[in-house]
This record gives sequence, C-alpha cells and structure tokens, in this order.
Amino acid sequence: MENVADYKEIIEIVKDKGGDAFKYCYQCGLCDVVCPWNRVRPFSMRKIVRQAAFGMTEIENEEIWRCTTCGTCPQRCPRDVKQIDSGVALRRIATEYGVFPENVRPVRAASGNMSSVGNTLGEDREKRGAWAEGHSVQPFSEEMELLYFTGCYFSYDSRLKKVAVATANLLNKAGVAFGILGAQENCCGESIRKAGDEELFRRLARENIKAFIDNGVKRILVSSPHCYHTFKNEYPEFMVRFEVVHINQLLLQLLEEGRLKPAGEVSLTVTYHDPCYLGRHNGIYDEPREILRRIPGVELVEMPDSRENSLCCGGGGGRIWMDTPKGERFSDLRVDQAVGVGAGVLATSCPYCITNFEDSRLALDDSDALRIKDITEILQEVI
Ligand code: SF4
Repeated sequence: MENVADYKEIIEIVKDKGGDAFKYCYQCGLCDVVCPWNRVRPFSMRKIVRQAAFGMTEIENEEIWRCTTCGTCPQRCPRDVKQIDSGVALRRIATEYGVFPENVRPVRAASGNMSSVGNTLGEDREKRGAWAEGHSVQPFSEEMELLYFTGCYFSYDSRLKKVAVATANLLNKAGVAFGILGAQENCCGESIRKAGDEELFRRLARENIKAFIDNGVKRILVSSPHCYHTFKNEYPEFMVRFEVVHINQLLLQLLEEGRLKPAGEVSLTVTYHDPCYLGRHNGIYDEPREILRRIPGVELVEMPDSRENSLCCGGGGGRIWMDTPKGERFSDLRVDQAVGVGAGVLATSCPYCITNFEDSRLALDDSDALRIKDITEILQEVI
C-alpha cells in the first residue's frame, strides 16, 4: 500500500467485501484457542480481526494467508464474527493490489492455470475426461439422472484418479445413469475464491453454469467437498440452483435401497477424518460413518478430534497450493492421531485431505502400517 489513505480505504473495502461483523469482536481470544495453527506455531485470528476493525491490516503481511478457512473459529465465536469472510476480504484486496508474499506465489500459478486451461494443475483441458476411458463412462446427456462433476484433482492426479474410477465402478454396479462433461468442465473455483481471486472465481462459475444449462443438467454428483460447498452455497449467488449430491450421500442411499450390496468382507480397523467443507461447513457427518458400518469386517474407531471438532488437514483456503514447512503441517498431527487409535486405514472424502495425508503418511516410522483411502475405495473392495 502506498500511503495512509490506502490503509483507511481497507476498512471500507473489508466492510464491503466481507461484511462488518468483525466490529462485534470483544477480543475474547477463543478463536485463537481453537485454531489448529496454535498446535504447531503461534497465530492470532483475534489480532487479524482487531486490525481489520481499525483498518490497520498490512496486506503485505503473510499472516492473512495463513487461515485454511476450516470453520472452527466461527463455530465457537460468541459474537458471531465472520472471521473467514473478513480474512478472504483482505486477500481480495491483496490480490487486487498484486501484493503476494513469497510463499503465496504458487497460488498465483494455480490461478494462472485455472485461467488458461480450467484446472489448477496446468493439465491439458482436452484430457480432463481421460481418466474415464475403459470404465464405461459416457459423456453426459440430458436424459441421464446425474452429472458426475469429477473435479480437477480427481480428473488428473495419479493418486486421486483411482477415486474417480472407484466412483464410476460403484455407480455402474448400482445401475445409475450418469455421465461426465470432460473438457467442458472447469475447476469449480471454490478454493481460488477463498484465496482472494474473486474475479477468476466468478468467471469459472459462470462458465460452469453455462455448461450445466447448455447440457440440461439438473442433478450434480461430486466427490470433492469443495465442489459440493460452492455449488450448493455459492453458485446460487448467480441466480441458479442445481441439486447437488456428495458421493457419500448417494452411496448410502444406494446401500439402503439395495442397489449396492456388499458381497465380500474386509478385515480393517478404519478411522474417519471429517473434511472441513463436508463436516463443519455442510453438516455431513453421519453418512460416511454409516457407509463404513455397512461394510462387513470394518471396525470403526474415532480419533480425538472428530465431527464438529475435526482437525483440519491444512489444505483449504488455497493452502493446498502453498508450501507448509515440516513441523507446521496439521496433516502430520492427524496421521499421528489415526495411528494412535490403532487404525490401519485413515478414510476420508476430500482430494486435499487425501493429498496431505498421503504426504504425511510417508513421514511415519512405519508408513506401511497406515493406508489413506477415500470411502469409495473401501466400499469398492466389497462390491
Ligand atoms: Fe473476537 Fe470472536 Fe475471536 Fe472472540 S472468538 S476474539 S469475539 S473473533
């Protein structure tokens, strides 16, 4: 920022972009008590809220990029301060001014990729549907009951493509009529919005909405909680509303209706990690656990921080693209918790969580003792 007038401007822009709920903060510090950062290094959301309230936030400050938008502090705040909205508003200002600390630069690269090829990984747009080849997956057409919106990581990442394939196999087994949009699909834009690039989010969203409307889509199935969140809670800002289903909701329904019947048995001690954007942000806690209970041979055990208190993996809010130094990764703590409760499998339902846990697992003394699985992969083993 060039001068004091610019700093004064901040408070007005934050109010405009993030609401002005931060002015109700009475500095109790509860947000700092529950914030996962304070398990690995000092960080104060309370301080950021205070600075924002007085228009004194330095947008060059690395701290405004730290929040993973996990949703723990808004859930506990006695004054209903919208910490995530205020934090994202500050990032939007920094993005507009082009002020990025060194460790935030990878976010700009992801944003450039989304802008040019529609995915965060910089992969060929035309190959977005290539994961589905050989798995009886058709291009979406209007008479199908579901569009499977695969998402960037599940479409391109070599580890996560296995989850997309497991999903397709289960849907085919249950006789669900579904299709994909392939190259017509863009990144959903959820995380880049939380990382402050509102303009790009709006462009991606508009293009996706156009593709949905042009193809006659009414019901959308997703594997990522981030796609789920934005389609359900943010895309309606564009005056559209599609029915959105997370794979965990659909799989439970298919099991209840007898369209999927477990035939085999496993012998697994499984613990389930609630992704922030599925649990805290959208209240889906029971469905994944119920699916696991219906798999013969699964013993379900809970970690210390579960359901509403789930410990963030560290990947939300654009942090998945930033480098987090060793010793500061929440996912390392989570993997330790899984091992601590005797789990052989850490199950979850989010591409960022799986990516971070796979990395953290490799740092374990015995990395083979713990496997990281999406729920679909475990269910596939017995169907
Ligand atoms: Fe302010 Fe709410 Fe944090 Fe307390 S929990 S310091 S009221 S933002």
